[in-house]
Amino acid sequence: MDRRDFIKVALISSAGVGVMLRGVPSCARGIPASALSGRAGVRCYAGAPAGVIQTSLSDFFKIGPGPSSSHTIAPIRIAAHFRETLSALPRERLSRGKTIKARLYGSLSSTGKGHRTDRAVIAGLLGQKPETCDTKLMEELADETRTYATAINGVDFTIGRQNIVWDRIEHDFPFVNTLGMHLVGDGDVEIFSLEYYSTGGGFFQWKGQEPEVRGKPVHPYGSMTAFRRLAAERGKALHEIILENDMAVMGVDEKNILSRLDQVLETMDDGVRRNLDEEGVLPGPFEVHRKAGRIHRQALKMKGGDSFMGLLSSYALAVSEGNAAGRLAVTAPTLGSAGTIPAIAYVMRHHLKYPQDTMRRGLMAAALVGFLCKNNASVAGAEVGCQGEIGVASAMAAAMITYAGGASLETTEVAATIALEHHLGMSCDPVGGFVLIPCIERNAFGAVKAYNAYLIATNEIASQHLEDLDRVIAAMLETGKALPQAYREMGTGGLGVTMVDC
Ligand code: SF4
Repeated sequence: MDRRDFIKVALISSAGVGVMLRGVPSCARGIPASALSGRAGVRCYAGAPAGVIQTSLSDFFKIGPGPSSSHTIAPIRIAAHFRETLSALPRERLSRGKTIKARLYGSLSSTGKGHRTDRAVIAGLLGQKPETCDTKLMEELADETRTYATAINGVDFTIGRQNIVWDRIEHDFPFVNTLGMHLVGDGDVEIFSLEYYSTGGGFFQWKGQEPEVRGKPVHPYGSMTAFRRLAAERGKALHEIILENDMAVMGVDEKNILSRLDQVLETMDDGVRRNLDEEGVLPGPFEVHRKAGRIHRQALKMKGGDSFMGLLSSYALAVSEGNAAGRLAVTAPTLGSAGTIPAIAYVMRHHLKYPQDTMRRGLMAAALVGFLCKNNASVAGAEVGCQGEIGVASAMAAAMITYAGGASLETTEVAATIALEHHLGMSCDPVGGFVLIPCIERNAFGAVKAYNAYLIATNEIASQHLEDLDRVIAAMLETGKALPQAYREMGTGGLGVTMVDC
């Protein structure tokens, strides 16, 4: 049973399971069952999950071309991984292959066109990597008639749209976004294949994958409850725990990690700056005009709170519009939600004038929240709806600005908890499968809610706040699993329907 199934079982079970799990560390907050006694059907929270999170900062914050981490970055990585795997096959076996087929399932198939999944797969098969991909090539790949010659370990292949198969939307694979990669020989005989899963935020895995050998965290935790306890016992600050764990897990030094964080922060800042100057219509089959620049100019003429709200929104819109146009962005936690954290980071750097070290500490607080959400629920719209993308981005951004401002771990948690809680239930319903409507504006709302969560958390009494982060993450998972499939990135429910005229 994985960690997410564990929480699910705990939630859907009766109070009796809570007794079974008495050994699990309890949470600081919550409402005693006795306060609700006599009410029919009351279920209880069995406790924070156990386990150890090993996600690293570089795993989490990936840089790559938009518009979608699960549908663009992960497919590039998957196709590039398949290419590398093929090149390691015995030459005799590889040379029996005449072509490569990429079969897309689930929302990769239903919304892959809008997310440029086909272009991503072709780019990966040509050996491109997300961070360094040739943006000119990515644009060129819009031409569906083009084919490219490539050699894998000395064996020639022709790569183009003929390699892509838009396969079943409904399927029985364990993950919604599944990609079957096949080396096919004469007479359609399969020579080699791998079944890949795009699991959100640009992460991927494949069937039969051996667990990756990496270091163990020196400060093991699997929940916010455990993190809080560990920080108190060891007298460590949030950023020290994240940094020391990352060094141990990745086997690299502090300088290496800090330089990676700087690269992430610079990509975010650049995404705001560059895209605030852009005008025009975004790529796609219907007209969506860029508006970040206009909102920004108008906000500069306003005063007080209106001006700040307008500026903050314009920063998020700018990055999201750039992402929709295929520009480089950071998975934070995904590309669909790539504008929320940069908007808050831009405020921290340019309005609050925070120094680089403070920016890095804030980003590490954001990472903590992201790690918990990814490992104990999901950051994939296809799995839990938009609460897992914009909701998590907003919670991460709230933690980032709160912690960077010098707040305690407890207050930082409260800020993240508030931001996530008020995204619960939000469906994923991209019109036509494009990361345009509602995604772009949703990033601005994620940023505004993050800022509001920061204001509330830093002005209320943290110890009086009843909800904690673990409980809200568990609620997100339960809610996400209950969402019908049409509201989980398929583009076949909600705005994905009502925005389309008959
Ligand atoms: S609606 Fe939300 S979860 Fe869905 S694609 Fe857009 S940003 Fe991502």
